[in-house]
Amino acid sequence: MAHQARKRFGQNFLHDHNIINNIIASAMIQSGQHWVEIGAGQGALTEPLLKKVTHLDVVELDRDLVTWLEYKFATQTNLKIHSADALRFDFAALAPEGEKLHIIGNLPYNISTPLMFHLLETTDCVADMIFMLQKEVVNRICAMPNGKSYGRLSVMMQYYCATEWLFDVPPESFNPVPQVMSAMVRLVPYSKPPVEVDDVQTLSKLVTEAFSQRRKTLRNSLKKSLSETEITELGIDANLRAENISLSDFALLANALSRKPINVE
Ligand code: SAH
Repeated sequence: MAHQARKRFGQNFLHDHNIINNIIASAMIQSGQHWVEIGAGQGALTEPLLKKVTHLDVVELDRDLVTWLEYKFATQTNLKIHSADALRFDFAALAPEGEKLHIIGNLPYNISTPLMFHLLETTDCVADMIFMLQKEVVNRICAMPNGKSYGRLSVMMQYYCATEWLFDVPPESFNPVPQVMSAMVRLVPYSKPPVEVDDVQTLSKLVTEAFSQRRKTLRNSLKKSLSETEITELGIDANLRAENISLSDFALLANALSRKPINVE
């Protein structure tokens, strides 16, 4: 097919068959499952998926590729192609009553973070997600405290999901060749988050605040939200920096903030 890869759609097509096989194996597909592929492209993953999956929906933004996919897979009865922007797509509507979706995609790097958060809004109907992302983003998602990759993305993702780095993928596996290393990650949304948080918006706000000045101590970076005494009373050293704080300590800080009486000045 003479398709010119479009940079604005983040098109890097997989062509390495060993990598494609590893991705399909990592998906641990079982019969009867409902799968959704985001960004089907030229069908590098779609084709092997169709051999294993009972029910596959794909969401693709590029209309030329949609036309081509419809042509290529015209005889497939287990496939539904949606010509749509995944960032605005209502994934919950695809989940049959009482069933959860399995999501897979070699994601365009420019939309990967907002797309993951869009999907997390519908975690009630998502069983698991396996994504190809920029390696640096996978490192950040899976990072533990005290390292340089640990940040807002680590804390928020790990609040919603169990995260697992699967394997790295070198640039030569794609066409055109991207400038960065990629990696596969598995995200499994929790039915019950690992820590109790009164209000996720407050957690998100506080984590953003703490990491917006990551070299500063909590005493300084959280000054607008919590005093040094309020932090210390939780058993957290206010001289630590955001990068030293675990998800459970962030939950304590967020709950202290949301339980604080509103200060009318
Ligand atoms: N899965 C294919 C293609 C990966 S490239 C492969 O592995 O070879 C990323 C794909 O995502 C492209 O086909 C691109 O057109 C599509 N895409 C980009 N932005 C999108 C969006 N917002 N919604 C859905 N698909 C998108």
